[in-house]
Amino acid sequence: NSTIDIDNLIANTIREDVRAGHIYKVPDASGYMKLDAMENPYELPDPLRRELAQRLAEAVLNRYPVASYATLKQKLRAKLGVPAGYDVILGNGSDEIISIVCTAAARQDKRSVVLAPVPAFVMFQRSAQFAGMDFVGVPLKADFSLDRAAMLAAIAEHKPSVVFLAYPNNPTGNLFDADDMVAVIEALGEHGIAVVDEAYQPFARTSFMERLPQYPNMVVMRTLSKLGLAGIRLGYLAAAPLLLEQFDKVRPPYNINVLTQVAAEFALDHVDVLNAQAASLNAARAELDAALRALPGIEVFPSSANFITVRVPDAERTCATLFAEKVLIKNLSKMHELLANCIRVTVSTPEENAVFLNALKASLDA
Ligand code: PMP
Repeated sequence: NSTIDIDNLIANTIREDVRAGHIYKVPDASGYMKLDAMENPYELPDPLRRELAQRLAEAVLNRYPVASYATLKQKLRAKLGVPAGYDVILGNGSDEIISIVCTAAARQDKRSVVLAPVPAFVMFQRSAQFAGMDFVGVPLKADFSLDRAAMLAAIAEHKPSVVFLAYPNNPTGNLFDADDMVAVIEALGEHGIAVVDEAYQPFARTSFMERLPQYPNMVVMRTLSKLGLAGIRLGYLAAAPLLLEQFDKVRPPYNINVLTQVAAEFALDHVDVLNAQAASLNAARAELDAALRALPGIEVFPSSANFITVRVPDAERTCATLFAEKVLIKNLSKMHELLANCIRVTVSTPEENAVFLNALKASLDA
């Protein structure tokens, strides 16, 4: 054993791009007001939590989950509006679904491309890379709208197998124009799959889900994370059964654990409670948006999600001031040149939003 040099072992076994890469960074948030990860600040109400605790206590833990996940899938289809004739597969968060789609599409016999407008959710690029695919990012316009001509040109040039379109987009918060989205989906035709990522759909109240029958090369991805269940990690992908079958082949069996399954089924039985929380967060977003727009010297981008992106004079200083006030937000500056001096803040309770606003004001006055 002692003759093995661990650096040599890594050099001999681990892919070069992985060795050169970095671990997905999540800051330690203990003691901080957490406004950096688009979580719902509200818990399930206490009586429901007690009932859920009872269900979890009764869960069968010594057996593998029931592999079909039929009950959970049925509830997702029924409660979240999957059209008749369409089915879902489940992921350990939509993060895993993104990885599953890329793994299934990463051909070995030719260059395979994942394309997305950028700035985008970083896992599109990371999952494409880890699957061995090339990632092509097509810059949004300065107002964060989709650059339809550039998207169509890039599709013609790179012939992507997969295009991710987040609707609303993260980290910009806006909904792309639906006609631009359709132009992209139609341009892909039978050569590419359009994944409409509706992680923030509970706050946008608009969706491509009902258009599934119109566009056979489109699939719709959602998650329970932003609705208030980020901790249980459940994402799902809705699509035509024949296409889903292909993705299902690369999905690890039993990827949804029993506790998640029980908690998700319970939450879906009470989805009206979660929807009401989303509605109050939408009201809070409108208030926060108005308060931000009243501040001089900053640019507020319109949001249809549970976060707001803002351009400040000095994002570094603003984030440092907020950090000193124990408020965590995301500095987007380094992500993309379109995001110079932009910060992203999760919409939270009125109380937390007020703390954020005051700290932001202090950073602007400094
Ligand atoms: N898609 C988008 C656009 C996101 O912003 C996120 C989370 N930040 C995800 C997918 C992943 O969500 P989860 O894995 O929690 O379902």
